[in-house]
Amino acid sequence: MSERELVALVCCDLGAIVRGRSLFASELAPALATGVGWVPANHALTPLGPVADGNPFGSTGDLRLLPDPDTRVRVEAGGGDGMTALELLLCDIVETDGSPWECCPRRFLRTALRELKDELGAGLLASFEHEFQLLDASPPALGFSLEAQRRGEPFATRAMVALTEAGVEPERIFPEYSSHQFEIPVAAAEGVASADRAVVLREVVREVARREGTRASFSPLLDPAQAGNGVHIHLSAIDEHGEPLFHDASRPGCLSETGERFAAGILAHARALNALTAPSPVSAVRLQPHRWSAGAVCLARRNREALLRIPPLVELGGGDPARQLRLEYRGADASANPYLALGALVRAGLDGVRSGLPAPEILERDPSELEGADAERFGVGALPRSLEEAMGALEEDETARLWMGPLLHDAYASVKRAEIEAARGVEVEELCARYGAIY
Ligand code: GLU
Ligand code: MG
Repeated sequence: MSERELVALVCCDLGAIVRGRSLFASELAPALATGVGWVPANHALTPLGPVADGNPFGSTGDLRLLPDPDTRVRVEAGGGDGMTALELLLCDIVETDGSPWECCPRRFLRTALRELKDELGAGLLASFEHEFQLLDASPPALGFSLEAQRRGEPFATRAMVALTEAGVEPERIFPEYSSHQFEIPVAAAEGVASADRAVVLREVVREVARREGTRASFSPLLDPAQAGNGVHIHLSAIDEHGEPLFHDASRPGCLSETGERFAAGILAHARALNALTAPSPVSAVRLQPHRWSAGAVCLARRNREALLRIPPLVELGGGDPARQLRLEYRGADASANPYLALGALVRAGLDGVRSGLPAPEILERDPSELEGADAERFGVGALPRSLEEAMGALEEDETARLWMGPLLHDAYASVKRAEIEAARGVEVEELCARYGAIY
């Protein structure tokens, strides 16, 4: 790259906004060692713009954004006049002596992964499957249709090429059910790299869309009358030899005892997890029953209304079921910081294993057919109905509340409080428009 190109050193903040500072490429080598300046209160910026009132940082303190050289991403210049290359590196947020800052989201995830390693001897494989919509006023083509796919050109091909070059390993792109909606599943990666991929995917897709003169919105819900944009997080664990830990062909759903307990932990903490995985004022509207998002807090195999799903194991073409077995958490969206969401899921799963929770019953029916005690047993409509309720659930869950240290917790709560206040009394359509413009 030319010395007079800019490189962005960035982090993903508590509201899942990517922020940072750019420098000339010629200055990158020293910055890899020293980082660039950063301010604690940047982590109290809300996605609405202003700094959150009552945040724990105030105007004091200095930090560094320390680039992780393994995360370097480049999208070549092109696509319209004057579009320069996008070059970025993801950063850890550290103190000025290089020690980790207690509110750094990558550190939050690393701590959870270390616990998984220490207690289960396990590594985590994860992938984030994203949906998004191109903001396009023209009448949409039919969901999943070839017509919709072709109208998405050249954006779709360019996005897949750019994501591949960025190391995200996209597997497919296809038109989804809602207007101008697409989905991009990606290959699983180990540990922090999987969440890095989520951050990079969003920014690369936005960049490619920008170059096509449009905007890609990952907001959880653009139109209350339509399906929303989910981020489904696929999870599995491997032992130190790389052997899968969640598969056991002799058990229901082919889920091993460890896998069952991990799933049970996620379900047990589902309401608190919601505050970290779907944390915008429009998120709860997407998660209502009959939107094929997560209308029931239960485990299922073939049911897209369940919060946790075991996707199909495909033996066709010689596929290995043991390596395919994973848990799909359907309750996340792109207003969630991927490191916080994944770290919290790992903590919840680990708590299930640690407590030896019994295997969750696998739902085999459409949850909308359930009534009374059955509906309650399978958690139909049991997720919080608002961000306020989700934050309350986090406070009430004594285990989950301690996942974040006090400073991170207070900063996060201040940001979410500001969003809750700003949303009070606002119609859902207007909230959808507001958040559609942010994410
Ligand atoms: N759009 C749905 C959601 O909000 C997901 C549909 C699907 O991919 O199964 O999560
Ligand atoms: Mg989908």
